[in-house]
Amino acid sequence: MRGYYTNEAVLVATESRTSSPVRIPRDAETLQHPQIKNLYPCGEGAGYAGGIVSAAMDGERVAKSISNKIASGHSQ
Ligand SMILES: Cc1cc2nc3c(=O)[nH]c(=O)nc-3n(C[C@H](O)[C@H](O)[C@H](O)COP(=O)(O)OP(=O)(O)OC[C@H]3O[C@@H](n4cnc5c(N)ncnc54)[C@H](O)[C@@H]3O)c2cc1C
Repeated sequence: MRGYYTNEAVLVATESRTSSPVRIPRDAETLQHPQIKNLYPCGEGAGYAGGIVSAAMDGERVAKSISNKIASGHSQ
C-alpha cells in the first residue's frame, strides 16, 4: 500500500498490543455469564473477538440475544 510501509511512511513501529489473553465464561445458548445473570461478556476484552469485524459480529450476536430475551418477556 503506497505510503504505508515505505520510506515515505510518517511513522513505522511495532504493534505492541495483542488480543485479550483471558476469556470471561459465558453460556453458549444465552450468551450470559453462567453465574451472573444479565451480564453478557462480549467483544475483545471478554475474549470473544480478535479484531474490528469479529468484535462487531460478537456485539451483534449479543444485542440480538438481549433483544430476543426482552421480546419474549423474560427480564431475568
Ligand atoms: C493499535 C491497535 C491496532 C489495531 N488494528 C486493528 C486492525 O487493523 N484490524 C482489526 O480488525 N483490529 C484491529 N485492532 C483490534 C480492534 O481495535 C479491537 O479488536 C476492537 O476494537 C475491539 O472492539 P471491542 O468493542 O471489543 O472493544 P473496544 O473497541 O475496546 O470497546 C470497549 C469500549 O468500552 C469502553 N469502556 C471500558 N471500560 C468502561 C467502563 N467501565 N464503563 C463504560 N465503558 C467502558 C471503552 O471506552 C471502549 O469504548 C487494533 C487494536 C489496536 C489497539
